[in-house]
Amino acid sequence: MSSNIEIRKICQDCGNSFIARTTVTKFCSHKCASRNYKKRKRDEKIQQVAPVSVQRMEFNQEQLKDKDFLSIDETCKLLGTSRMTIYRQIKSGNIKAGKIGRRTIIKRTEIDKLFQ
Ligand SMILES: [Zn+2]
Repeated sequence: MSSNIEIRKICQDCGNSFIARTTVTKFCSHKCASRNYKKRKRDEKIQQVAPVSVQRMEFNQEQLKDKDFLSIDETCKLLGTSRMTIYRQIKSGNIKAGKIGRRTIIKRTEIDKLFQ
């Protein structure tokens, strides 16, 4: 019944236009279809890996909580604020910071004080 229909479509893999015999055809050839299938499978794999890296980041944050001294960067990560915010807090005296050479360090307890 539907064997006579001809639909001009754009191949979802190579982008070439082609004549499709059914409305569900997405690719111009079997080659494109299988290549796109492999690509999709690879993307799925990447997405499965992604949550692991997020977990690893949270783990690092846990480690920061146990440190006595934090760098500006670590403080930013821990509080989820920008470096500017931290520097402003140091300047205004809300957070006391020390210096080792050119590195600014913040005592963990200074951050705890913010919540008292
Ligand atoms: Zn194609």
